[in-house]
Amino acid sequence: MIIDAIQKSKKTFLILGLFLAIAITINFFVLNFFDQKSSYRAAHSLVGILTLMGFVFTFSNSVSSKIRLVFMFFISLIPCYFGTVFPDLDITLIGIGGHRNPIFHSGLLFFLILFFARRFKSVFLTLIIAGFGVGIGSHLIWDLFDQADVRWIPGGFLDSFWLGLNGLFCLIFARIFLLSRLDIS
Ligand SMILES: [Zn+2]
Repeated sequence: MIIDAIQKSKKTFLILGLFLAIAITINFFVLNFFDQKSSYRAAHSLVGILTLMGFVFTFSNSVSSKIRLVFMFFISLIPCYFGTVFPDLDITLIGIGGHRNPIFHSGLLFFLILFFARRFKSVFLTLIIAGFGVGIGSHLIWDLFDQADVRWIPGGFLDSFWLGLNGLFCLIFARIFLLSRLDIS
């Protein structure tokens, strides 16, 4: 029985390692494609890809074939990358002084998109929007572990609470939205 358990965990480790290697490879191509060289961007992008893999995996019982999961992943991949970039656009738009402000470092834009997209029934479009949400969510949660300071929000705990809650809601809403569209297809 113990040998069985060891064999099983060995297999799990191998599979996780394989997915990590695939994620790193995909990340390499995505970063090259967008001509991104900073390690900061690479980290956010990799976390985004890993989160998207986990996100798509949660649909394995909802879709008929594994191939479909792979398609779902690749359709959402680039929108997810944009989602990981979006929160840091505050540096470009407002300057470094406005970096990590709660408008960009929140799910606000994604929630607005969801509000307007609720009429759309297209699964393809839903995958793009959900991918974007997963990207933002993964960025906020990664910033949480980075103990990032969010402007205008006092104290470390409230910053973490803000990032964690927004990140989590991005992932949950993306899942609910996609699940509701998969049902109709
Ligand atoms: Zn950030």
